[in-house]
Amino acid sequence: MQIGRWNHQSAGVSGGPARPSHSGGHSKYSKNSHGGKHFPNSPGRAGFGSHRNAPASRVGNRFPSRGGYGRGGGARRGGFGVFGETETEISKFMNKTVVTTEEPVFIPEHKFSDFDIGEHLKKNIIAKKYESPTPIQDKIIPHVLLGQDVVGLAETGTGKTAAFLVPLIDKVMKQKGERVLIMAPTRELAVQIEKELADFARGLGFRGMVAVGGANIGPQISQLKHNPAFVIGTPGRLKDLMERKALNLSGFGTVVLDEADRMLDMGFIDDMRMILSKMRSKEPVRPGHPGGRHTLFFSATMGKDIQRLIGDFLTSPVIISVKTRDTPSSVDQDVVRIPRGKDKFEVLAEMLKDREFSRVLVFGRTKYGVEKLAKALSRLHIHAESIHGNKTQGARIRALEAFKAGKVSVLVATDVAARGLDIPAVSHVINYDLPSTYEDYIHRIGRTGRASLKGRALTFVQGR
Ligand code: AMP
Repeated sequence: MQIGRWNHQSAGVSGGPARPSHSGGHSKYSKNSHGGKHFPNSPGRAGFGSHRNAPASRVGNRFPSRGGYGRGGGARRGGFGVFGETETEISKFMNKTVVTTEEPVFIPEHKFSDFDIGEHLKKNIIAKKYESPTPIQDKIIPHVLLGQDVVGLAETGTGKTAAFLVPLIDKVMKQKGERVLIMAPTRELAVQIEKELADFARGLGFRGMVAVGGANIGPQISQLKHNPAFVIGTPGRLKDLMERKALNLSGFGTVVLDEADRMLDMGFIDDMRMILSKMRSKEPVRPGHPGGRHTLFFSATMGKDIQRLIGDFLTSPVIISVKTRDTPSSVDQDVVRIPRGKDKFEVLAEMLKDREFSRVLVFGRTKYGVEKLAKALSRLHIHAESIHGNKTQGARIRALEAFKAGKVSVLVATDVAARGLDIPAVSHVINYDLPSTYEDYIHRIGRTGRASLKGRALTFVQGR
């Protein structure tokens, strides 16, 4: 097995100016931590320089599909085949993620105490140990408090959840009867948002509920009868609840579309349009004249489709882009070459026995493959859990909690299930199966190197 060093020190994972990589360094793992083996640097550095400054906004681009995988195409056995698989090709997208570490220290314009929000809410923010706003919070909260439509170009990890929750909780407190709909692409993200809402809203006397698929719809219908101020859901389940007449959106004046680009990718566009059409229409919302729909739109990317949606759904929005994380983090990205004839499962199992691999997120492409991989690891006494769309919501949450609590050291996940998850201190992300798109790659590796911790992302590449 060889590990090729591609670049270092990604302060975020969203593109931007790069500084030269430290060529020639062996990764820690390559430094002979496995029975004296030596893993030389990969020779395949062709194409490295030419793409270094390429913009990171090639949203939704699929990698060249020589392996026959693609929408509608089946993955080859063994899991690879999503794109060309040569190191040169992989280097092309890895290089786009190089970001400088010379990130200036962010000095917020505001303190939480400056915002015109209720005192109780301020106390809850302090209780959550948020000392000062992150860049996205600093910039967005004042606009949302004025009732303006906002587009936030930000990824998970930037603090975007509080950027919309804090001002909207204040709105719900101040405008009697105000109700907020939050749409998110995945169940996990919806649950995460609700947890944060529960913290901020402690003692404020209103409810939020989660409306997602994979969970029994009955209790959700019952909860809706209490007219919760916040409904947080995935488009499919929200639509289902509307069709069953359990959810009537005519009373909702505010909507948040979180990770809108992902919802688009996942084919939720028709559901999103239908859902929004049942809310108040968009019309200019001026301070003091909250007549129309108040729409907040979050996306990590700004492709043409996203721009069209913004035009369709929002009114004169303020656009705020905070693409890197607030805290400098770093992600080392390496390729692990699996020699011809060697089973990549063996390579993974060997790797995971290393103590350095303390909290590892392994990405597989299919639900079936992910489940199988987690079971196979467990049989080797490498405690692994899995999250994917075939699991019930309860099982997914249990797996996630076990991983977060350190009860299992490995979580095997599909892209959809892992999207947007905030898991502290992930030591390694392993791309066991290659990602389908550049954007998926960015999201995967962004699960590590968070909150100023060092992270490593390893991508398995089958030798020819
Ligand atoms: P998010 O991008 O909303 O998923 O947030 C990423 C992580 O940052 C979560 O663990 C939040 O609890 C945390 N966070 C958000 N805002 C702040 C803040 N102002 N200070 C400290 N931590 C924060």
